[in-house]
Amino acid sequence: MAQLLDGKRVRDEILSELRPRILALPRRPGLAVVLVGEDAASEVYVSSKVKTCGELGFLSEKITRPATTTTAELIAIVDALNANPAIDGILVQMPLPKRIDSQQVLSRIAPAKDVDGFHPVNVGRLSIGLPGPRPCTPNGVMQLLRRYGIDVAGKRAVIVGRSDIVGKPMAMLLLHAHATVTICHSRTADLAAECQRADILVGAIGRPAFLTADHIRPGAVVIDVGINRLTERSQVEAIWRNEPAMLAEFDRKGKLLVGDTHPVDAPALASAWTPVPGGVGPLTIAMLMSNTVEASELRQAC
Ligand code: NDP
Repeated sequence: MAQLLDGKRVRDEILSELRPRILALPRRPGLAVVLVGEDAASEVYVSSKVKTCGELGFLSEKITRPATTTTAELIAIVDALNANPAIDGILVQMPLPKRIDSQQVLSRIAPAKDVDGFHPVNVGRLSIGLPGPRPCTPNGVMQLLRRYGIDVAGKRAVIVGRSDIVGKPMAMLLLHAHATVTICHSRTADLAAECQRADILVGAIGRPAFLTADHIRPGAVVIDVGINRLTERSQVEAIWRNEPAMLAEFDRKGKLLVGDTHPVDAPALASAWTPVPGGVGPLTIAMLMSNTVEASELRQAC
């Protein structure tokens, strides 16, 4: 029976470890979240970030702007937040509307306030193993592995997905933890064969239930980063075959979340696995809070 890696439990653990550190600070940490446009998923993510800030007693500033905002206007907002002494962390919610130059905006955030870890300086620091804010989702995965006592050193880790926010930093963190790392992507010649070699398989693709029994080596640790919304009943039927409870849940809600790994095959084959929802997802916010506390500690020590 595969062990379920419970992201909510680890999130709660991380947040409760942060509380005494927050109380020890002369000034409460401040996080600014900038949301541009009306992307429904982004609005949900931003609301939960702001809510968690409130629970931890942070100062939180939510800045919303219409989809018509220009790169120059967004840069001016970032500049003002960089100069604001009460703000320790700045997060510009991705994806930004296409007309905005995301890289220009992310590069404008002061590296010390870059709590997402996406600034080129912090990407470089991660690459050469210097301290700095690490991207929240992959860092959350590392916390999950560590806190469940899953040893990474010497293991074969295969990551499917090579994005700058998940796949690449995930590879770098696993490499620093001494795993032997393979990164796969849409041009990988034989994806199933690469995945079958994995002791640790990370799915970060954005395709519902894409990694199946063909990809999962029996006994592997399966980490599912993907969050996909199913809105068609036929998709739910195809994935959950003989599970009427899932169909009933879909009929009740009209939608269902599923990861990038097959939710029936993964627990049947893996030694440990992360469910969706409730696996990697909750850790992203926990690591954002952790990065903000760390940024605040460093700034307040100066
Ligand atoms: P991107 O779309 O930026 O990247 C997807 C990656 O998957 C690309 O590298 C792409 O390859 C690869 N890919 C796509 N199709 C295939 C295929 N058929 N075979 C092999 N590789 C493929 O996605 P993100 O990294 O931003 O996100 C990945 C998933 O993680 C999404 O579901 C997203 O919602 C979720 N996510 C979850 C978070 C959380 O908090 N849990 C946070 C961030 C993301 P190529 O480069 O060749 O195009």
